Amino acid sequence: MIRWFLSVVTLLISINAIAQNPVGKRVLIRAGNVYNSAKSSFEKNQEILIDNGIIAEIGSKISVPPGTEVIDMSKHTVTPGLIDAHTHLLLHMPYSKGPSPMVVDPMVHSEAERVLRGAYIGRTYLNAGFTTVRDLGNSGLFFDVTLKNAINKGYVDGPRMFVSGPILSAVGGQFLELPHHLGSVATQEYRIIKSVEDARLAVKENLNSGADVIKICSDNSPNQFLLTIDEMKAIVETAHQYGKKVTAHATFDQSIRNAVLAGVDGIEHGYGVSDSTLTLMAQKHVYLVPTPVSFQEGLNRVKLLNGITGKTAEGIVNDFVLPNRIAIQKAIQKGVKIVAGSDYYNETDEPVGKQAKDMLVAYTEAGVKVADVLRFATYNSSQILGMEGVIGVLKKGAKADISIFGGDLEQDFLKSLYDVRLVIKNGVVVFRSDKD
Ligand SMILES: [Zn+2]
Repeated sequence: MIRWFLSVVTLLISINAIAQNPVGKRVLIRAGNVYNSAKSSFEKNQEILIDNGIIAEIGSKISVPPGTEVIDMSKHTVTPGLIDAHTHLLLHMPYSKGPSPMVVDPMVHSEAERVLRGAYIGRTYLNAGFTTVRDLGNSGLFFDVTLKNAINKGYVDGPRMFVSGPILSAVGGQFLELPHHLGSVATQEYRIIKSVEDARLAVKENLNSGADVIKICSDNSPNQFLLTIDEMKAIVETAHQYGKKVTAHATFDQSIRNAVLAGVDGIEHGYGVSDSTLTLMAQKHVYLVPTPVSFQEGLNRVKLLNGITGKTAEGIVNDFVLPNRIAIQKAIQKGVKIVAGSDYYNETDEPVGKQAKDMLVAYTEAGVKVADVLRFATYNSSQILGMEGVIGVLKKGAKADISIFGGDLEQDFLKSLYDVRLVIKNGVVVFRSDKD
């Protein structure tokens, strides 16, 4: 019986492998510019040979085996497939006035609708040049795992997903002053931690249900409650026992510091981080995902949320954006690893994947060179996903996850970034623009 079962499983695995990897053929890309994420530099006139989903060769002149399809991108810039390390594919929020509407989505949309919508949003990520995302909660009870599995099985197109499952948090999750009779909405979106022992159990539950990373709310902003340092220590200890990383939503200095002292691997947002906490992060090799917004995107949000425009809006945006820029600059000076994550889950006229690239614009506004911005969204993110050398890099033996942007991405960043020409995931073309 067991042998029969195992052979069926083996057969199913091989069928899946065929479904995911239909490319037996070889493809050669002639690239005008190639971004080298390991060196944080651009190299001219390179060729990349893809064979069976893997980069077989990269260099200035490659001998082309017969039967190879040649794609001429000699006027364009080739990068590793971009990685958004902070997404919420299962959450979608219209901009509106009033108290946090985050709670509305799980109350009015079914699991099925959220998963199907997540697949739709995942497609917009591919179209924008992102081939991998790290999805950090607000995804019901493991809807993220469902979507990840559907993508891996080839049911729907989407980016590679690394997922957290429900966020481990203190009472109430991030839902502000939820009436008592709606408490179950919080427990279906968050794993509410009741004690140190419960914290250990929660990690095992999430890992057992398919989580790749543990996300915690050090603080529950906009809600007031905090996880204790002892609870976070128990979470970190248990996750590390099983080789998984812990990353913490933390939005003010004390909650950032608490999470760092508890031993987390990364901090999400990190607004208001102090110099001394940044120093501690550098010492303990804790990465930072600052989730910044550009000045223009800040203006868009203030207009949509509050109807405010002009000089007043500029003042509001500067109050938020300028301290963020300084924090990013200080983090870099102190040697804290920066990882690009958009935290974009808003419903606007533009596709989510496209909007998610705004964070990259925000880094350039903070004075970061284009080559380093791209490193945040490729090499650095591959490291925190435990995928260094496999994705986020263009080198022999790496997976063929590749994005191609029109023209010179380094010199003409804002234009080129939004001019996606071709996207390849696992050696398969998943997006091709109809421009020449
Ligand atoms: Zn988030």
